[in-house]
Amino acid sequence: MKIMVSACLLGENCKYNGGNNYSEKAAQFLRGHEIIPVCPEVLGGLPVPRVPSEIVDGRVVSQEGRSVDREFRLGAELALKRAVEEGVELVVLQSRSPSCGVKQIYDGTFSGRKVEGQGVFAKLLLENGFSVLDAGEL
Ligand code: SF4
Repeated sequence: MKIMVSACLLGENCKYNGGNNYSEKAAQFLRGHEIIPVCPEVLGGLPVPRVPSEIVDGRVVSQEGRSVDREFRLGAELALKRAVEEGVELVVLQSRSPSCGVKQIYDGTFSGRKVEGQGVFAKLLLENGFSVLDAGEL
């Protein structure tokens, strides 16, 4: 199966703090499949490392109060385009990210509180009919 995956789950250091979210469970799940890594935030032009961001009233804002909504949405669109072009059958995404979160995201107060909801990329994938799995469900 062709599976698109949050690059940080595969050990790529594209996370906001310069690290990754390597998951042995994800590695096991993906074994034997064709993998397409993607980091929508980097695709959207954001640097590594970068200031963490959360979704505040439907728009993505950095902890310093700067709008990064344009970069997040551009990256999500570019990653979606790649998913369509590649004909991926499943997308596995890192939990709770303002781009990749599938089940939950942080509530926009930068206090660590979580709410039900999706990140920008996960939402776009679901709206476009893709099967999306939260890495926390593996
Ligand atoms: S945008 Fe997605 S792939 Fe990129 S670091 Fe965040 S969770 Fe990982």
